[in-house]
Amino acid sequence: MRLVVLGGPGAGKGTQAERLSKTLGIACISTGDVLRSAIASGTELGQQVQAKVERGELVPDEAMIQFIRDRLLEPDVTQGWLLEGYPRTAFQAEELDFLLDELNQQLDKAIWLEASSEVLMQRSLSRGRMDDTPDAIQRRIELFQACTTPLLDYYRFRDRLIHINSEQPLEQVEQQILGILGLAN
Ligand code: AMP
Repeated sequence: MRLVVLGGPGAGKGTQAERLSKTLGIACISTGDVLRSAIASGTELGQQVQAKVERGELVPDEAMIQFIRDRLLEPDVTQGWLLEGYPRTAFQAEELDFLLDELNQQLDKAIWLEASSEVLMQRSLSRGRMDDTPDAIQRRIELFQACTTPLLDYYRFRDRLIHINSEQPLEQVEQQILGILGLAN
């Protein structure tokens, strides 16, 4: 199974991606987590992206596309994966499709976790990560609306989009996703 999880900051992408990857037995690749841990350990990538991540800006497409290209060639993901927080721009989505063509793989579904801006702000503030300052959260909500919402149509036209109300309790969100994937108990 190959899935991408889309949603604004605080939509529950990380929580759902972790649960789904366990339930489905596939690797979860979270670009936000990868970048935060690169920053925490001061790697070259971390130093390159720190200012952008702290301000809630997007890391340049080229760097993200290269990272995903390398990561999807690793042996632990040949049988499936779940991408959390990627793609986030039309360019990233198109490049992901080109890459999957090359690898002879197909994306099964794009899961959109929808929540209002108020809920996104409230949830992000309550988790207190290093990139969860009010200004950075606001910027990430704006960038989600401007750069990532066009992907919803991109995946809808390709008959890939699963739309979930992410303001529901997280167990219910997971059950709905599994139900749509045909995997509910
Ligand atoms: P997240 O934890 O998914 O909200 O990501 C945290 C931060 O990492 C974002 O605010 C961006 O600065 C950066 N980031 C994560 N994924 C991407 C991506 N696909 N494209 C560009 N920047 C990203």
